[in-house]
Amino acid sequence: MQHANHTDSTRGVVYKYGGTSVATPEKIKAVAKCVADVAKSGRRIVVVASAMGGATDALIALAQKMGDVLSPREMDALLSTGEQQTVSLIAMALNALGVPAMSMTGWQCGVYTNGNHTRARITDVDTAAMQACLKKGVVPVVAGFQGIDPHGDITTLGRGGSDTTAVALAAALGFDCDIYTDVDGVYTADPRKVKGARKLSALSYDEMIAMSAAGAKVLEKRSVEIAKKHGVRLFVGKALCEDRAEGTYVVPDTPRQEARALS
Ligand code: ASP
Ligand code: MG
Repeated sequence: MQHANHTDSTRGVVYKYGGTSVATPEKIKAVAKCVADVAKSGRRIVVVASAMGGATDALIALAQKMGDVLSPREMDALLSTGEQQTVSLIAMALNALGVPAMSMTGWQCGVYTNGNHTRARITDVDTAAMQACLKKGVVPVVAGFQGIDPHGDITTLGRGGSDTTAVALAAALGFDCDIYTDVDGVYTADPRKVKGARKLSALSYDEMIAMSAAGAKVLEKRSVEIAKKHGVRLFVGKALCEDRAEGTYVVPDTPRQEARALS
């Protein structure tokens, strides 16, 4: 598939990895290799990761063994640990490849939210900690899905919230945002259900928002809204670097041909 070139390598980039992309030690090492290649090329890169596949569900199941009424504050304290595992492991894997990296929780990174536990909204991102790393050539590896509220309590953003973390960081930094997942792009319909569903090389923010609202799981709706508001260039693709040319760009306007496929 031919792509218009929406990438400008002088801009930094946020790479976000979903749970399936980091589900095993081997996959984490493969992700680290892709990130290392970008870092060694000199492009500024920030990594955002989800919990390892199944980890969040396992933590929820564990919590449910404690009783029927669960404190939302304690749920957030517990669920935020899933992403913390992933980011420290990715940082270790990067270090093993000779790339300096530092894991950060949401609060270490400066992700501020309101106090709405389990469904918090990001209110502000302080990029100072990430900028300090980037200046030293250290790759910040940030735990998605979490932040800190005005009381200093850990919050989480709701299921799928790591997409929102990634786009919010990209918006605050003025970076591009690549969302790496287990599907190789955005399709006109669910390819598992609809025969003849076509992969799009590009679609507009509004089309993506409509698809997310209609239940497409590929991108969390809020993340696309933030991308639209701040003009963040979004790319959705499969986790490994060699598949880079195969994904979907989410852009301000849809090229005419693609719009026809959607309607
Ligand atoms: N780990 C969280 C979830 O499973 C957040 C995310 O993956 O985006 O929903
Ligand atoms: Mg997701």
